[in-house]
Amino acid sequence: MSIPFLDLGAEFASLRPELDAVLADIIDSLQFIQGRHVKAFEAEFAAALSAPFVVGCSNGTSALELALEAVGVQPGDEVITTAHTFIATAEAIVACGATPVFADIDPLSHTLCPKSVAALLTPRTRALVPVHIYGTPCDMTALMALAQQHGLAVVEDAAQAHLARWEGRYAGTIGDAGTFSFYPGKNLGAMGDAGAVVTGRADVEASIRRVRDHGRSSKYLHEIVGRNERMDEIQAAVLRLKLPRLEQRNALRRQHRDQYRQRLAAAGFQMPSHDDRAVPAVHLCVVECANRDEVLEALKVGGIGAGVHYPVPLHLQPAMRHLGGGEGSLPVTERVAQRVLSLPIFPEMTDEQITAVVSAFLAVARP
Ligand SMILES: *Cc1c(COP(=O)(O)O)cnc(C)c1O
Repeated sequence: MSIPFLDLGAEFASLRPELDAVLADIIDSLQFIQGRHVKAFEAEFAAALSAPFVVGCSNGTSALELALEAVGVQPGDEVITTAHTFIATAEAIVACGATPVFADIDPLSHTLCPKSVAALLTPRTRALVPVHIYGTPCDMTALMALAQQHGLAVVEDAAQAHLARWEGRYAGTIGDAGTFSFYPGKNLGAMGDAGAVVTGRADVEASIRRVRDHGRSSKYLHEIVGRNERMDEIQAAVLRLKLPRLEQRNALRRQHRDQYRQRLAAAGFQMPSHDDRAVPAVHLCVVECANRDEVLEALKVGGIGAGVHYPVPLHLQPAMRHLGGGEGSLPVTERVAQRVLSLPIFPEMTDEQITAVVSAFLAVARP
């Protein structure tokens, strides 16, 4: 049995008739950039998150850049984040002229460790970027308390955490701003690149609307030097079709993750956990093992799509090594990077498929 890491085809097949109709409608309208679908998606996603403002943009990386800039991150500032994330998190900090400072992660949840963050604060610290990695919300209670004590802005990287919740509030809506990616493989995925920023701050919203569209205040007037980071109509229309199903699909991911956890825990394997305050979006289904690379290879040979998120932490990446303390400086992050394996997970997964993945995994893996 061959099992993909994720099955985008299944979701698109079920949406195909509606998708064909809306695409034909967009072609007829000849409105391709930032039109009625973008406007409607912004309103619908804001309602889904119970948040005041959503601004659509070109991708999750530009969402981070727009948000960091809008909350006041400037050249010379330090921004504390995690090294256990996709490189875009730190790229956006660098794009603002600021310096990423990497804190360690919690060994159980793999999210940003508030104690490690506290130890890295300096007078130059301007903002925190918690990443809800795998779709697991960070301890936002502790991180927001730190931010308030020290006057820091908080931009949540919720690229993997659409509709995840922390103490009843949606991931991305707790800090000054939150950012989403709609890269096709994310829990809410477009048919190309797209992203969004969510915020409760009207000043942040206004700033992002202007910067994403060439600093415009009207068609031919440019108040500031902006950029082109707009969302297009096709992406917004696809997202509008998928959004109403998202909560249900996340629930299926949680069920599948629980199935995996039961069977793997019985064999002595640990999956990252979270406390009762968190409802994760389970973007990734991660398990730890001692011989990760061997297991990855064996699964591949057996036709099972697995992945590693992420094998090289950012402070050890060639592009960012000069920023961090080198090998040994983030012991939990470094240990986790060597042990994590992401198993196939997607809403349409069957019990038979989960059973096949578990037995292929258990045949080679050591805890
Ligand atoms: C996907 C992702 C991004 C970047 O999003 P793009 O849409 O690919 O630019 C940023 N942060 C994290 C944690 C991600 O998983």
